Amino acid sequence: MATPQKLRCQVNKITDHGDRVYTVDLAPERPVPRFKPGQFLHLTLDDYDPSGFWPESRVFSIASSPAQRDYLKIAYSVRGRYTARMENELNPGRMVWVKLPYGDFVIRDANNVALLAGGTGITAFIAFIDGLTNEFHNNTFLAYGARKPELLLYQDLIDAKAGTNSDFHAFYFVETDDKNKSGSTKETSGEFFTGCLSIESIWNRLENPQETTYYIAGPPAMIQAITGNLLKKDIAPEMIKVDAWE
Ligand SMILES: Cc1cc2nc3c(=O)[nH]c(=O)nc-3n(C[C@H](O)[C@H](O)[C@H](O)COP(=O)(O)OP(=O)(O)OC[C@H]3O[C@@H](n4cnc5c(N)ncnc54)[C@H](O)[C@@H]3O)c2cc1C
Repeated sequence: MATPQKLRCQVNKITDHGDRVYTVDLAPERPVPRFKPGQFLHLTLDDYDPSGFWPESRVFSIASSPAQRDYLKIAYSVRGRYTARMENELNPGRMVWVKLPYGDFVIRDANNVALLAGGTGITAFIAFIDGLTNEFHNNTFLAYGARKPELLLYQDLIDAKAGTNSDFHAFYFVETDDKNKSGSTKETSGEFFTGCLSIESIWNRLENPQETTYYIAGPPAMIQAITGNLLKKDIAPEMIKVDAWE
């Protein structure tokens, strides 16, 4: 794994998705160090003096592609004190410090994989999905749950990949089915379900589920529930990989 580096970045753009969910585009002052899809960064709002201690920070999965060395993207939802500070203080032009890369939540594509994402947990998978090519001959299944359709981040990228790569399959779960009520006519290559992300709903769509590796990213309650369901389906614990959000 690459040695983590500290970078100063300018906030380029904030996208407000509603329900206190945001994506943040950052322009680093130096090229981004090499990292792998699924790794995360630390972000601090406080000024950092390289001769001193690293200030309080929080960690976020890196949603941008490792090929983009001049750009970083994260997504966050406001949960507690620190993310509330981010909501108040992050504006275009603001400088922040990040350090990266960290983590070993790296998808090994030796067999079929199922990516199970809750909310902003999708960021842990997006660089991997973005990098999928038609040379990858195993199946990749994405099941992605959000509270409502507007909170399905990166749906365009996911749909585009599902539309062009026959080995990539996307299942969306939204808790409130206001998609139709809002009159949205958005075309999608994915299959929609109403309710919380559930293994049961996609089980018959998975090819050879006992030989699939399951990667789960999202809030702790979702990880706990999905892990429990997979164990009940007799999936071996070593086939379940978790990006544990504390
Ligand atoms: C690997 C990983 C990837 C993650 N990726 C994302 C992501 O992509 N998007 C996203 O929205 N969230 C992500 N999270 C969760 C995120 O880092 C925050 O923990 C979460 O948003 C909680 O919100 P908060 O920090 O505002 O809550 P707070 O209430 O401020 O703190 C929540 C937790 O942070 C820790 N903490 C408290 N004080 C400190 C301190 N002084 N220094 C360090 N830690 C402290 C404690 O464990 C505390 O329980 C990820 C977490 C992990 C572990």
